[in-house]
Amino acid sequence: MIYNVAGLLTAREGTAREVTIENGEIRTDLNRFYRVNGPVRLLRTDKTVLVSAAVSATVNDTCSRCLAPVNINIQTEFEEEFEPANRDLMSERAAPVERDFDPALLIDTRNMLDITDALAQALSITMPLAPRCKDECAGFCTTCFANRNQTACKCDQNPIDPRWQSLAELGARTSNSTN
Ligand SMILES: [Zn+2]
Ligand SMILES: [Zn+2]
Repeated sequence: MIYNVAGLLTAREGTAREVTIENGEIRTDLNRFYRVNGPVRLLRTDKTVLVSAAVSATVNDTCSRCLAPVNINIQTEFEEEFEPANRDLMSERAAPVERDFDPALLIDTRNMLDITDALAQALSITMPLAPRCKDECAGFCTTCFANRNQTACKCDQNPIDPRWQSLAELGARTSNSTN
């Protein structure tokens, strides 16, 4: 997802270019692999290139309840300004942008604009915190660790939380001592 924007940088302010991401691949340090599709618009502003994207992505993850692999579909909208290293390509009145730019938002000296890192950030923010393989995932049994989607373990028939069990024993002992 790298675009040569030399033409845009030398074009007039307000010039736009539309591109489409088709089956783009993004790998992140969380070991996630996103497959991305969607339109991207590159707009020449007075000092920057404003990138707007509305993409959908599928990504592998694990179910938060049963740890089965799941494919998640997410949508994200993204809008960021990228500042060129070659400011002189823009009009002579283009002064440096005042604020500090994220290095992920810099157009390099060869006029290549790479949206991969910024898009990866936008996608990871959109990820569900506790994905599920299916809405009704039964998860693991906390007693015997059986996957309840696959086996109905026996713990189901005797659902006493161990903490309550020791309280019950304590209660029995207390009532014995008063007798
Ligand atoms: Zn699950
Ligand atoms: Zn169990």
